[in-house]
Amino acid sequence: MKDINLFGKPVSDFIRINLKSEIEALHKKKIIPKLAAILVGDDPASTIYVNTKKRTFKKMKCESEVYSFPSNILQNDLIKHIDILNKDNKVHGILIQLPLPNHIDTNKVLESVDPSKDVDGFHPENLGYLFQGNPRFIPCTPLGCIEILKFYKIKTKSKHIVIVGRSNIVGKPLMALLCQKFEIGNATVTICHTGTKNLSYFTTQADILIAAIGSPGIITADMIKKNAIIIDIGINRINDETEKGYHLVGDVDYNDVKEKVSAITPVPGGVGPMTITMLLYNTIQAARNI
Ligand code: NDP
Repeated sequence: MKDINLFGKPVSDFIRINLKSEIEALHKKKIIPKLAAILVGDDPASTIYVNTKKRTFKKMKCESEVYSFPSNILQNDLIKHIDILNKDNKVHGILIQLPLPNHIDTNKVLESVDPSKDVDGFHPENLGYLFQGNPRFIPCTPLGCIEILKFYKIKTKSKHIVIVGRSNIVGKPLMALLCQKFEIGNATVTICHTGTKNLSYFTTQADILIAAIGSPGIITADMIKKNAIIIDIGINRINDETEKGYHLVGDVDYNDVKEKVSAITPVPGGVGPMTITMLLYNTIQAARNI
């Protein structure tokens, strides 16, 4: 049986090999790429994400520092701390770990990051460059998807790509990327969401279907075209009786679709490993640009 899995690890390893030589070149110039991660509150998932990022940066001989604040921090105080990091020449990238507590206006906080240090690519200036077709920092998960398509030589030109999910961090940046006249792009892009009537009508037309929904296994075999390529971005925890207490599944019902697709990113192991690598990539670009 042919291997349908588009694993993220070989893509991530390939990118990290190239990044290593860039990091060494920066070290020779006495520049150590540094990420500042802002963590507000003590959400366990956010704490795990931030610590994983810290470990990866250390392994790649880059610096990272986590700035933790209590969940009741005032928005203005948080912005003041971000401004200190904006002015710190040793910090090249600033990441705001989302979600922020409800009393904080996330957009205001993201806008307070110096756009030249916005390695998550969420600042309106960077999103504007992206929509203009002249990207500076591309949000990490969408960039990871593009790298997967590139690595596995999946042609996108003139294909119909359907994206389910319109978040600012995944769906919309992917739409902006894939409709550009780029090598990985130049596609006809349809974007679906909860306002879409008859989702299957659109998903069954997709040559490439991208799911960024946050709903376990919602995309089933009857919703896809035969031989479609599936990029499953969803990461959903399902509680179980294992020692860990849960396992991860995507937004696509893998077992249901596996006989029908030509390729699919599995969950876990597909898009997941790409996000941190692309954060590292963006931080190194920021360090190179100083
Ligand atoms: P959001 O909740 O911000 O957005 C989900 C989107 O899906 C919304 O646009 C929503 O529509 C749409 N949607 C939800 N239910 C349906 C439905 N039944 N039919 C059609 N559209 C629907 O999620 P994110 O974009 O942040 O994340 C999406 C998934 O990707 C999650 O599982 C998340 O864990 C995962 N993720 C994975 C990453 C990785 O590193 N691999 C990184 C980031 C996210 P509407 O706008 O109308 O509400």
